[in-house]
Amino acid sequence: MHVAVGLGSNLGDRLTHLRMAVSQLEERFGTLVAVSSLYRSDPVGGPEQPDYLNAVAVIDTDRTLDEVLAECLEIEQLAGRNRTERWGPRTLDLDVLAAAAPPVVTDRLTVPHPRAAERRFVLEPLDEVWPEAAVGPGSARASLEHVRDQSVDRLAESEWVNGLSKGGWWVAAQVVLLIWVIGGAVQLPPSANLAGRWFGAVVVLSGLFFGLWAGRSLGKSLTPYPEPMTGATLVSQGPYRLVRHPIYGGIIIALVGVALFQGSTMTLVGAVEMGALFWLKSSFEERRLLIAHPMYRQYQAAVPKRLIPFLV
Ligand code: ATP
Ligand code: CA
Ligand code: CA
Repeated sequence: MHVAVGLGSNLGDRLTHLRMAVSQLEERFGTLVAVSSLYRSDPVGGPEQPDYLNAVAVIDTDRTLDEVLAECLEIEQLAGRNRTERWGPRTLDLDVLAAAAPPVVTDRLTVPHPRAAERRFVLEPLDEVWPEAAVGPGSARASLEHVRDQSVDRLAESEWVNGLSKGGWWVAAQVVLLIWVIGGAVQLPPSANLAGRWFGAVVVLSGLFFGLWAGRSLGKSLTPYPEPMTGATLVSQGPYRLVRHPIYGGIIIALVGVALFQGSTMTLVGAVEMGALFWLKSSFEERRLLIAHPMYRQYQAAVPKRLIPFLV
């Protein structure tokens, strides 16, 4: 019989807790049919608390649903789950969401889970791995359309269970494009227009200053990879108050300055290309930041501009 288990964590090392839960489910039940992508969701009910990471795993087992629940509660204990207040923050929450079996209602267990059909953070991953699963009045897929207004982000495909790449591909693309743009620019003469030259030089210096100031604010957390350094804290000071990726912004501003200094359309096109690459790299990076930092969503809301202050 297939059984869908919902996984959630919003306390401690959230990703490690979810990975531990998946490997425990596999160890205890043998067959892991599927694991969904990894999601972030806003906490629902209870006190003010950090954001959740969520996923769904489907197992195949001959054991009773009561036994499945008992194993799930034991796995929660392995993550040090502490039940103090209802819907409070937790290191690990495992819910039996649905099963290929008649409904069960006892005082310990209700399957399908009575609140599953109201929760996008349950339905979204469940729809991925088992769209026909019976929850609430219909299937996971059918229930999904009623909860679209809830805020849920998909952060990583199912490979999150085994490990996430550092995103070296992005670094390589960035280095190649930067060499190409700067290599082209150094061959061009300064603009004949003196005012343009002065203005361009000021823009270059402001871009460099902004980028270096940002690098300094990051300190030891500075890395060329989109994957944040392990143990890095979320920086929201200095230029990070104005824009979420000020180093990228600084580089783009400096390149626009070079284009003005030279009066060169070609360099300006290079700066725009660099901007496009940084836009895409930072989208990827933000999904990783949302995994690493439970408060990143709030930071995104507080600092709405991504690359260049007051602009984009
Ligand atoms: P919610 O059920 O709204 O998601 P919760 O997960 O925070 O809330 P818990 O404190 O983890 O609630 O669980 C309380 C009890 O709910 C468990 O001890 C368990 O006996 C019971 N329970 C009933 N049905 C289920 C189910 N389908 N899956 C998990 N626990 C269930
Ligand atoms: Ca729950
Ligand atoms: Ca629970």
